[in-house]
Amino acid sequence: MSSRMLIIVDVQNDFCEGGALGVDGGAEVARRIAEHVRVHGAGYDRILASQDWHRGDTDNGGHFAVPPAEPDFAETWPVHCVAETEGAALHPEVAALAEELGERLEIVRKGQGVPSYSVLEGKVVATGEQVDQLIAAVPTDGGTWERIDVVGLAYDFCVRATALGAAESGAPVRVLRDLTAAVHSAGIPALADELSTAGVEVVMSPGLTA
Ligand SMILES: [Zn+2]
Repeated sequence: MSSRMLIIVDVQNDFCEGGALGVDGGAEVARRIAEHVRVHGAGYDRILASQDWHRGDTDNGGHFAVPPAEPDFAETWPVHCVAETEGAALHPEVAALAEELGERLEIVRKGQGVPSYSVLEGKVVATGEQVDQLIAAVPTDGGTWERIDVVGLAYDFCVRATALGAAESGAPVRVLRDLTAAVHSAGIPALADELSTAGVEVVMSPGLTA
C-alpha cells in the first residue's frame, strides 16, 4: 500500500503576524493551507499538524534567549509557544480546519524543555506515536511512501528540518513552497538548493504554477 502524508508545521499564533516570533506572511499561509486541505485533503492518508510546545519555566535547553542576552534568531529566540498559552494555539484558520476534520487532523507536539525544529521529534497527542517511527513504519510494514508533503512555518527552520528529516527516512518529500513563509527571506534561494540536493522537491501547491 502506498501512503501519502501531509505535515502542517507549527502554524501557531506566535509564528504569525502579531505573535512573539511572527513571520511575515504567516497568516496568509495559514489561510492557504486551510484551503489546500479543504480541496486536496482527501488525497492524504494522514494529516498531521504540529505545535511547538515549550515549557514556561525553563529556557528549554537554551532555545529561549535569557535576558540580558538578545535572541540571535538562529539558535536563540524570544520566548514563544509556551504550552497552553494563546501564542501556542493553532492560528484560527488552522484551528477551524482542525474542528472540521476532527480526528482526521492529528495534532503533534514537540519541544517540551528542548529545542525541536523537526516534527519527526514530536509525538501524536492522541496516540502517543513518535512521528519518526510512524514515518519509518510504512516501509517496515511492507508499504511505500508515495509522498510526504510539508507545509507551514517557518520555511527556513521547522519546515526545513522536517523535510530533511523525512527525506532521510527515504520517503519522497515535497515542500509546497507557497504554503510556507520564512524568518529570513534572503536565505530562500540557498535553502531551495539545500533541499533539492537532499532530494526534497520544492514545488508550488497543486492548482498554482511557479
Ligand atoms: Zn521553539
